Amino acid sequence: MLGKAAGCRDQDLFVSGLLQDIGVLILFLSHPEGYTTVLDEKRVSGTSTFLAEKEQFACDHMEVGHYLLSSWNLPDSIAQPIHYHHSADEADGEYQRSARVLDYADKISAMYHGLRSNEKSLVVHKGLARHWKLSGEVISELIDSVGEKTREILKVFSIDPGKIRPSSQIMQEANEELGELNFSYEQMVLELKQAKQNAEQLALELQKANNSLRELAYRDSLTGLYNHRYFQKLLEAELARAGRYDNPVSLLMVDIDFFKKVNDLYGHLVGDDVLAEVSSVLVRLVRSCDVVARYGGEEFAVVLPETGTGGAKVLAQRLRRGVEQKKIESNGQVVSVTISVGLASTDMSEHVLSRVALIECCDQALYMAKHNGRNRVELAVI
Ligand code: GH3
Ligand code: MG
Ligand code: MG
Repeated sequence: MLGKAAGCRDQDLFVSGLLQDIGVLILFLSHPEGYTTVLDEKRVSGTSTFLAEKEQFACDHMEVGHYLLSSWNLPDSIAQPIHYHHSADEADGEYQRSARVLDYADKISAMYHGLRSNEKSLVVHKGLARHWKLSGEVISELIDSVGEKTREILKVFSIDPGKIRPSSQIMQEANEELGELNFSYEQMVLELKQAKQNAEQLALELQKANNSLRELAYRDSLTGLYNHRYFQKLLEAELARAGRYDNPVSLLMVDIDFFKKVNDLYGHLVGDDVLAEVSSVLVRLVRSCDVVARYGGEEFAVVLPETGTGGAKVLAQRLRRGVEQKKIESNGQVVSVTISVGLASTDMSEHVLSRVALIECCDQALYMAKHNGRNRVELAVI
């Protein structure tokens, strides 16, 4: 069929085609192991059969075929094209066309077995167009008819055609498979994206939940200040840091004066409002790095990192005045309260002060502030 399409009038072409790979049979039957190596080499390295044969046997199946056919006294018109069916340019002028037809017949049949059908098809298309000016359509039809004819012939001999189908059908199936692959790939990417988004959303919610849990664990619900637990942790950490960097830390213990009377006079709810208002005055007047905590009841603790006695004294007085001046409105009443403040600072001692010791000293100072008349600041004596 290819010979016809290529305008080759070689009468022996059909016989040459049947015998073109007879050298393979001979090499394989005489040296099965060696030829298995050739096939392995071809599969692994992708090299051509005849180069692998040369490597293994120092001759290739074209040479073997040619030698055999010549010794059978078959004419050159058969032996020559077979000799050069992988290198048509080297054949004598009159046999070149036939050798080339054998070469492309081999390439077309290769499209129907093995791998890389697309690649092989491209080579066939380019070659047939170049050598015989065949159009793409004619070439496609030719390749297809080869597939169809092959099936017919195999049927006659009751041989299972296996995967041999017209190449257009193979291509269509490959395209459909590719389409399905693409579709499921896109689907997978989409699902992965969705899953990733979900996971991120979950992580975000978890983080939020964790944050609010942490807040809950460390915050006082009435005043919104840090609670006693957080204060203890923070003071411990600040003291450790201060020790490392040799910075002072100051602590203020703040207690509302005669708070019991506020409750007694105005009721517990007004008392609660007063606690909240005093808290916000304290928070407003400290620096951003200072931490105000509710120590318990109407008592507050203020941690002043990197602050010595001098700075702490100024701040303590500012807080005392701030609370004193604050007019707290609640339940139709205007209430004013004062605070007493005890102050202790690490720079008051030449020795390292523990958290417990610092709090004790500070408590002592607060007691003195109460004792000395309230609404005042007293320094610890260390
Ligand atoms: P001092 O000047 O000596 O500190 O007198 P004080 O009355 O402020 O001190 P005392 O310890 O005698 O009374 C503290 C009062 O604070 C008693 C308690 O009922 C009240 N109190 C503690 N926690 C709360 C609270 O959360 N809400 C309200 N409304 N009152 C509280
Ligand atoms: Mg008290
Ligand atoms: Mg009090």
